[in-house]
Amino acid sequence: MEFQFLGGASEIGSLGLVIRDQGRTLLFDYGMTPTDPPTYPRPAPTNLDVAFLSHAHLDHSGMTPLLSRVPRTELVATPVTIAVADLLTRDALKIARLEGYLPPYDPNDIRNLHSRFTAVDRKGTFRWRGIEVELTPAGHIPGASMFRYRGEKDVLFTGDLQTIPTHLVGPALPVECDVLVMESTYAGREHPDRKEVERTFRLKVEETIERGGKVIVPAFAVGRAQEVLMTLAHQGYVVWLDGMARSVNEIYRGAPEYLADSKRFRRALDGVHAVENSGERRHALREADVIVTTGGMLDGGPVLYYLGELYKDANSSLLLTGYQVEGSNGRQLLDEGTMTIDEVRIRPECEVLKFDFSAHAGHSELVKLVRTTKAKKLVLMHGDHRELLADALEPEECEVVMPPNGQRFTV
Ligand SMILES: [Zn+2]
Repeated sequence: MEFQFLGGASEIGSLGLVIRDQGRTLLFDYGMTPTDPPTYPRPAPTNLDVAFLSHAHLDHSGMTPLLSRVPRTELVATPVTIAVADLLTRDALKIARLEGYLPPYDPNDIRNLHSRFTAVDRKGTFRWRGIEVELTPAGHIPGASMFRYRGEKDVLFTGDLQTIPTHLVGPALPVECDVLVMESTYAGREHPDRKEVERTFRLKVEETIERGGKVIVPAFAVGRAQEVLMTLAHQGYVVWLDGMARSVNEIYRGAPEYLADSKRFRRALDGVHAVENSGERRHALREADVIVTTGGMLDGGPVLYYLGELYKDANSSLLLTGYQVEGSNGRQLLDEGTMTIDEVRIRPECEVLKFDFSAHAGHSELVKLVRTTKAKKLVLMHGDHRELLADALEPEECEVVMPPNGQRFTV
C-alpha cells in the first residue's frame, strides 16, 4: 500500500491523504487552510476512485468541490457532514470573494459535487467495486467519522477526534486495525478537566452579569457554538445567538441520532433568542446577558459589531472558546491586549479570558487510543509537534511514521 499526503501531514490545515492499493486510488479528506490569504493542498489525483470526508470543518472539506471535476469520483460522508460541508464551502467562496482572492472553485462545482455524494450512516459500511470502508464515530463534532479501510491491510483514518463525551456529541469509538492514521493536534498538550472549565466559565458569566456587564462569547459556528449554548442552558441567563451557527443548529435538529442527547439539545436551543438580521443586533445588545456569535477568532463576522459597541465597557467580558491561530485578532488580543476593527487598532477594556472547550483529544487520550486500536504502525498527521506523541510510545508498541507532505511511502 502506498500513502501520500497532499497536505496537512505536519501542520493543522489543508489535509488530504491518498492511499493507492491493489489498483485503487482513494482520498481521505481534502481541506484548505482558511487563513488570509488561504492556502491549499497539492492537486488530487485525476484517477481517483472514491474520496472519503471525515467531517465538515474546512481544513478537511474545503477543497472537496474541486473533486466534482474528477471524472466518475464518488464522495462518501455522513448526511450531517454533507449538509454542513455544503454550508461551509459556500461560505468559504463568499469570503474569498469579499477578501479579493481567486477562489479555487465556483458555485457550479459545489452544486455538481452534490450528485457525487453517497451518504453513509454513522456506523454504516460503504461497499463499491470491491472497496469496503466502515464508518465509526470520531466524537469531535456531530457527523464526524473515522474510516476503516479493509485493503491489503486494515487502515483506520481518524480525521479529527475526541474521546471524551461532550454535551453535544458522544465519544470516538475506535476499532482495531493494522495501520492507524491519527490526528495529532494536541501532541504534547493536555486539556484541563472539562467539568472544571464549564464551572469557571459559568462563574465568569454570572460575575459579569452581576456587575452590570454583558458577555460576548465568540464561537466557531460548527460544533463550538452549540457546545457553548448547551453549557449555558437552564442557568437563567438571557442568551442570544448570531451568525452561521443558526443554520448549523437546524441541520443538527434534523439529525438527532448524531447528537449525544437530542432532547437536551432541542431544549437548550428553545431558550435561545436568534438574531435574524443585522437590524436586530442593536436589540440583542440591549436585551442579552450573553451573546454567542461567530467568528471565533475575531477576524470577521457579527462579533466585531458587538465588540465595537462593548470594548470600552470594563464591566463586560469577552470569553474566547476556541483555538486562536497565529496572526488572528484573537491571538493578538491574548498576546498583546490589542486587536483591529475596520483597520483601527483598539485596546479593549472589557475583561478578556480564554476557555478550553476543545473538540480534540488531548495527548494522553491520543496515546490511549493508539493502544486501544493495537495498531502495529502509526502514521501521525495533522499536528505541528508530532514527535511528542512518537516519544510517548515505546518502540516495541508500534512503528511510528511522520511523513512530510508530498512524499510517497509504503506501509
Ligand atoms: Zn475538525
